[in-house]
Amino acid sequence: DVQVAASERPIALSVLRSTFGYDSFRGEQEQIIDHVVGGGDALVLMPTGGGKSLCYQIPALVRPGVGVVVSPLIALMHDQVTALEALGVRAGFLNSTQTSAERYATEQAALAGELDLVYLAPERLGLERTQEFLDRVRVSVFAIDEAHCVSQWGHDFRPDYLKLSVLGERWPEIPRIALTATATPATRREIVERLGLQRARTFVASFDRPNIRYRIEPKQQPLRQLVDLIRTEHDGDAGIVYCLSRNSVEKTAEALVREGIPALPYHAGLPGDVRAEHQSRFLREDGLVMVATIAFGMGIDKPDVRFVAHLDLPRSIEGYYQETGRAGRDGLPATAWMAYGLADVVQQRQLIEGSDGDEAHKRLLSRQLDAMLGLCETLRCRRQLILEHFGEHSEPCGNCDTCLEPPTPWDGTVAAQKLLSTIVRLKRERNQRFGAGQLIDILLGRHTPKIARWHHDQLSTFGIGTELTDLQWRAVVRQLLAEGLAAVSADGHGTLELTETSWPVLRGEQTVALRQDPVVQAGAGRRRKG
Ligand code: ADP
Ligand code: ZN
Repeated sequence: DVQVAASERPIALSVLRSTFGYDSFRGEQEQIIDHVVGGGDALVLMPTGGGKSLCYQIPALVRPGVGVVVSPLIALMHDQVTALEALGVRAGFLNSTQTSAERYATEQAALAGELDLVYLAPERLGLERTQEFLDRVRVSVFAIDEAHCVSQWGHDFRPDYLKLSVLGERWPEIPRIALTATATPATRREIVERLGLQRARTFVASFDRPNIRYRIEPKQQPLRQLVDLIRTEHDGDAGIVYCLSRNSVEKTAEALVREGIPALPYHAGLPGDVRAEHQSRFLREDGLVMVATIAFGMGIDKPDVRFVAHLDLPRSIEGYYQETGRAGRDGLPATAWMAYGLADVVQQRQLIEGSDGDEAHKRLLSRQLDAMLGLCETLRCRRQLILEHFGEHSEPCGNCDTCLEPPTPWDGTVAAQKLLSTIVRLKRERNQRFGAGQLIDILLGRHTPKIARWHHDQLSTFGIGTELTDLQWRAVVRQLLAEGLAAVSADGHGTLELTETSWPVLRGEQTVALRQDPVVQAGAGRRRKG
């Protein structure tokens, strides 16, 4: 009875129209729904805002029984169910925010065939009583939302997701559809393996978000830069500003408010009711800026977020893509802007070094950071690079900073040699290691107290780098770190050391192409084009 013929297809379309009020399917929705309605398993990779929900909601309505949706977004279940009920869909949820009487009532409704959809928190699936309930209820489809949460290397890992393999084992005849907006080949493989979806058909939508303009600029006075961005281009717009730490979230939100820009903080350290209030204000009110850690955002469906700003470097392109993907879900022009500096690189390297994972895990984090740095320092189209990361080929986009104002490449070989040989001399002659600041002071021949204390004015490289400014040197160091031509050492002090690939540069066997940072002044580098 699980086989539903292709003749059911007009039913899917009429459900789309009568229940959801849309005229036609988007992208591959129709093929996905057809496949699942017909009893097949599916893995759906679609960017945020692409329309994943309908891919399981419609099969749940077309097939007999109740659709069971596993979702980690417990805080949003109530809203999701309310929204569905408003459309006339009979929906309920089961999670730990309910009393057992409420859960019992939902279960009874499902058993009586009175529900089309039930949202389920993943931790409930590990419970024997939940499994027995699912044995007794007629399930039309299992949907696994945010399926990348099963990936142990991803930043959204939920241990409870590992239990979801039970779905295919215990109820093999019921179609499963796993959905995610994270689509690197590695994550994909992990989802298939851990959820036992080897026989699922995979649907990959394009990950391009053409209305988002990507921009990454050197970090100088980040707050000033952010305020300029908002004032000159996003006055009165809703936006999200991501910061790494709770502390910088608080400080940034306060600073924006002082500047007359309405802003609210959001991070895991705030009491639950404050977070809930800030979140609902952000969704309801116009023109609010949410300053947040990455704790904010998953499942937030606010169509008119006009900009997403990063004041700190994300750890991976996946994270960056997800976070920036919250801008412009309505398809109108939106900005993904980031300020990025040398200190970010050093800090992220130190975070990886100090993390408690094993070596393999650290290597993986390191590779993810390398890819992110590559995106920051590229001379190529940013969108092209992002899409390549997701295995998608594309042409230069014309709607990112490197397309609009191509950065000038310059031959940084001599500069790199000067910097690297300073590191070598310090090590060989003094057995010392220093951070970028001191190295740059040496190259610029500055007579600071720290230079005097260490007698660094005696080094042969003292003052040999005056052809560049302090800012330019910082850009050189940043790019060498991004290219792996120098490294942050593991001593926890942010000191720099050579890598194997430094030597060919020092010996003059390899040249180093660097990009010239655009000049950052108020308004510069962010003129509206076209
Ligand atoms: P995702 O879960 O992939 O982030 P959603 O399922 O929340 O995306 O859909 C994003 C938005 O697009 C929602 O407002 C949804 O109602 C709308 N949408 C989805 N499919 C269609 C369609 N076929 N026609 C018009 N709007 C659609
Ligand atoms: Zn581009």
